[in-house]
Amino acid sequence: MTTPALKALLEKTAFTDSDLALLLTLQEPTECRALYDEAYKRTEAVLANAVYMRGLIEVSNLCVYDCRYCGIRKSNHTLTRYTLTKEEILQAAERSFRAGYYSLALQSGERDDARFVEFIADVLRDLHALSLSMGIQDGCGLTLSFGEQSCETYEYWAKASGNRNALRYLLRLETSNPKLFETIHGHGPRRKTLIERYMALSDLRRTGYQVGTGVMIGIPGQTVEDLVADLRAFERIDADMFGMGPYIESEGGDMHADGMMEKKQLLTLTLNMLAITRLMFPTCNIAAATALESLVPGGRVLGIGAGCNVVMPNLTPTRARVNYRLYRKKTEAEQEQIPLAVLEKDIESTGRRVAKFRLGSSAHFRARFNLAAD
Ligand code: SAH
Ligand code: SF4
Repeated sequence: MTTPALKALLEKTAFTDSDLALLLTLQEPTECRALYDEAYKRTEAVLANAVYMRGLIEVSNLCVYDCRYCGIRKSNHTLTRYTLTKEEILQAAERSFRAGYYSLALQSGERDDARFVEFIADVLRDLHALSLSMGIQDGCGLTLSFGEQSCETYEYWAKASGNRNALRYLLRLETSNPKLFETIHGHGPRRKTLIERYMALSDLRRTGYQVGTGVMIGIPGQTVEDLVADLRAFERIDADMFGMGPYIESEGGDMHADGMMEKKQLLTLTLNMLAITRLMFPTCNIAAATALESLVPGGRVLGIGAGCNVVMPNLTPTRARVNYRLYRKKTEAEQEQIPLAVLEKDIESTGRRVAKFRLGSSAHFRARFNLAAD
């Protein structure tokens, strides 16, 4: 593409499908840089230079589903299964609050049995109380990522969380292509369907959560047109935030025959998708996913340079973390213990500032309810 043509394209605020396809397929380093710089610049213009931190706690790797891409799927018997105790979760949360990270992200394999639902509600109540006792006015921010649940459960957890204005839920579409969705979710008795995923996202929205979604980028069989359709799906969902990263072949997954995209190409495609998401959704929070860091060391920082404004430092105790292997290998999980001070320095090397003592709710969500910045 000629430089003036790219420059004109990057000045747009609304894009046609062919614009999006063009931007997604940029590969020339200077062209990609221009895209990322524009995304970085627009992030700053709308959201200032803050990067919000969410202390990530991987609550449990027990899962009743069998998504083929995922290393903690039910049929992978090579893992030790664990569920953190409430005390371990509270300890990790305390570490997050002490570091000035006033929002947490809780994630786990999927269950919807009464015992699990009650356990999470109990944890949420105690996390809220802990955050108040540590001086966080109105209570900490919480992002839940526990998969598809009933409307009653969403509401029950929302009540238990104590601060509904800073309550978020991350549920990825994974892909908006129905065929591809079916392929990667298999045919088992408890398989996911795309229609139920959309319904869950709309239930979450109605319950009052800040709704986050996203897709995996570089799934075998996924086309550029699929990614364009994903971006259009994000518009229809009117999401408040995004969590998106590369598909990485998982040891415990069931997609070995399909391989995975070559790393360098995958990195470029992922950063392109993140940057375009920023151009299309300037007021939304976008996380630099952990998978990006797994793909290449320093991947998170590259994500910030391409328009991300959220980072989720992993605070899961190591004994459990080595078994929360969605895609990474055990050794990677062991080596991942990067000191928070180093992470903060890395983030600030991009020119951004780590926003401490803030909840960092999505500006998109706040605008909808006329809420002040938190
Ligand atoms: N059970 C919940 C949350 C845990 S999985 C759920 O499914 O929503 C969280 C995310 O990990 C998934 O949405 C998926 O996008 C991502 N993930 C799983 N396996 C992956 C892989 N092999 N590569 C990249 N991302 C993966
Ligand atoms: Fe379970 Fe989520 Fe993995 Fe699917 S993606 S197997 S629901 S943890």
